[in-house]
Amino acid sequence: MRIGIFSDIHSNFEALRAVLEDMLAKKVTHTVCLGDVVGYNANPAECLRVVRELGCPVVQGNHDNDVGREEDPEHVNRMAGEGIAFSKNALTQEERQYLSQLPSHLQFEGVTFTHDTLDGPGSWNYINSVLEAEVSFHYQRTQLCFYGHTHVPRIFVKSYGVRETQVVRRFEFRKGERYLINPGSVGQPRDGDWRAAYAVLDLKANCVEFLRVEYDIETAQRKILAAGLPEKTSQRLRYAH
Ligand code: ZN
Repeated sequence: MRIGIFSDIHSNFEALRAVLEDMLAKKVTHTVCLGDVVGYNANPAECLRVVRELGCPVVQGNHDNDVGREEDPEHVNRMAGEGIAFSKNALTQEERQYLSQLPSHLQFEGVTFTHDTLDGPGSWNYINSVLEAEVSFHYQRTQLCFYGHTHVPRIFVKSYGVRETQVVRRFEFRKGERYLINPGSVGQPRDGDWRAAYAVLDLKANCVEFLRVEYDIETAQRKILAAGLPEKTSQRLRYAH
């Protein structure tokens, strides 16, 4: 079983399509989506339809939650706010209802999947440090947990203490250790590399592969400007921070 794990698509259809094509080439047999299908970029409806057609487990991201709700979001910056308003407009009532009822986390094949930290569902806390990872590990009942939200690929390891270890192309798991892993973002990477990121969990080989895929970024950027979304949203795809 090879599970393609993808997160933070954020309405970037070109990036999503490239990742799904790459998954086929990498012999992925199942997929799991870590949330934030919508928000920021120009194709929320197209991305949501493709993700739903996969029929895979999907957890809810904070942007999915904001788009699914009637009330306008509080405490978001202009770039996020405009993306949420645009997504709300582009989706049907049924699609927004679908987003609003997604679970905050789930288990599939003995692995936990969540968008944010495992403490306090819907807290939308980020996991960027060993300290933040430690809090989440406290609630992690499985050896492996995959999360999203920060748009940065990371591996945290818990044995006696918690440490962060470097992301490599292929990372093998060891007995007696637990892992908290971020595959990075499909549609808006923030680690300085503009290429779409995702991961493949190979349960038989007991490892995770971190992958990057080039996509038609010019078309994605053009669509953002044509949709009247902020210029910064378009620029951010390239500088990836
Ligand atoms: Zn996100």
